[in-house]
Amino acid sequence: MTKIKLQTYNIAQHGISVEEISPSARVIITQLLDEGFEAYIVGGAVRDLLLGMHPKDFDIVTNATPEQIKHVFKKDCRIIGRRFKLAHVYHNRELFEVATYRGKAENVKHKAVKGHIISDNVYGNIEEDATRRDFSCNALYFDIENGNILDYCGGVEDIQKSKLRFIGDNDSIRIIEDPVRLIRAIRFQAKLGLQMTEEMQQAFLKEYKTISNVSLIRLFDELVKLFHCGNAVDAYRLLNQFKIFPYIFPHASDAITYNDNNMQFIQNALKSTDARIKHGKSVTPIFLFACFLWPLLELKAEHIQKKSNYEKYTIATNEIFEMCRHKITIPKIIQIGIRNIWMLQLRFDVIRGKKVFATLENPRFRAAYDFLLLRKGESKHIQKLCDWWTHIQTLSKTKQRELILPKRRQKKR
Ligand code: ATP
Ligand code: MG
Repeated sequence: MTKIKLQTYNIAQHGISVEEISPSARVIITQLLDEGFEAYIVGGAVRDLLLGMHPKDFDIVTNATPEQIKHVFKKDCRIIGRRFKLAHVYHNRELFEVATYRGKAENVKHKAVKGHIISDNVYGNIEEDATRRDFSCNALYFDIENGNILDYCGGVEDIQKSKLRFIGDNDSIRIIEDPVRLIRAIRFQAKLGLQMTEEMQQAFLKEYKTISNVSLIRLFDELVKLFHCGNAVDAYRLLNQFKIFPYIFPHASDAITYNDNNMQFIQNALKSTDARIKHGKSVTPIFLFACFLWPLLELKAEHIQKKSNYEKYTIATNEIFEMCRHKITIPKIIQIGIRNIWMLQLRFDVIRGKKVFATLENPRFRAAYDFLLLRKGESKHIQKLCDWWTHIQTLSKTKQRELILPKRRQKKR
C-alpha cells in the first residue's frame, strides 16, 4: 500500500497565484463548489506552473460523478470514454476535462490477463485519486478558493529536485497497469527535464515489451504527442535507450542504424521538428513518420528488381505499412500523406518539362521539399537537386519557364 501523507503548500510557499489559472476553469470549479461538490485543478497544469511553464490545458477533478457533472452543466457537458468515463465541459468555447476521483486500484474489477486495466470506473476520494495517478508531479491539487496546493505523494519536493517518480512502491506494476506510462514518462523527461529515478529506469528495461498491450491507435497518438513535445531529439534517444522504438519499429530501426547517413538524417528530422515547434510553426506527424520509415523504404526499394522506380516505391510502401500494422496503427490519412512525400521524392528527379510545374503546385510540395533538404547528405546528386529546387522557387514564372521548357514550348505557353 502506498503511504499517504498530505502536505499543504500555500501561495507564499509555492508562488503560483490564482490568476494564473484559466478564468474559464475557475468558473467551472466555482459552479461545482456552489453545488456542494469538491473540485480542484489537477495534474499537468499545476506541475507546469510550478516549473514556471505555460500549461497547455487545465484539467479539473471533482467528487461529482460524470452524471452529476452533466446535471450541473447540462448542454455544456458531454460524457465521454469507456475505460475512464469522464466529462467534457465547455466554457466560452474552451473545452475542459472534468474527471471524477478514481477509487483504489484494488477495487478495479476489469483487468486483462496481462495485468493492464481495461475498465476503470470505480470512484473514490481525493486520497485514493492521488495514488491512482501516474507520477508524483501529476498528483497535485490546486484549490482555487484559498490558493493552496494539496500534495499527497511528495510531488512538490520531487519537482524541486527535478525528479520524475512513479507513485507507489512497485514501478513494474504501474507500467503493467497502463504501459502508456512508459511513453508519458519519456515525454515528461524530454519536455520538462525531470529525471527518471533509477528504479523507474530499471523497471522500464524489464517491462518495455508491455507496450504491445496498448491499443495500437492510442500508441500512435501518444507517440505523436511525444515527438511534438518540443524535444524530439531527447524523446527519440530515450525511446531507443529503453528499447521501445526498436520494439515498435523493428525493421525501420534496423534500417536507420544501418549507416551513419541514415542516423544523421533522423537527427536532422528531429532537430527540424523541434525548431519548428520552438518558432510556433505547424508540425504534422506525416513528416516525422515519413522520416522514420524512409531508410527502410530505400533499403526495400533497392532490393526490388526489374521495375520502374515508381513501381518499386509503391510496392515497398505497401509492404512497409503492412509490416507496421501489427505494432502500431498509422491512420490512413497519415499513410496517404507519407506516400505523397515519398513519391514526390521521385518527382524531384524530373527537372525538365511541364511536370516540374505540376510538382511545384502539388499540395504536398512544401513538406516534400523540406524532406528533400533533410536528405542532402545522402549523395552529391541529392545535393544538386536540393540546390536546383531551392533556386527554381526564387524565380519568376517567366524565368522558370525559360529554365524548364525547351525554347519552342516556351513560345507556345
Ligand atoms: P499534458 O497535459 O502536458 O499532456 P498531463 O499530465 O496533464 O500532461 P493528461 O493526459 O492531460 O496529462 O492527464 C491529466 C492527469 O491525469 C495527469 O496529470 C495524471 O495525473 C493523470 N493521468 C493521465 N494519464 C494517466 C495514466 N496513464 N495513468 C495514471 N494517471 C494518468
Ligand atoms: Mg493535461
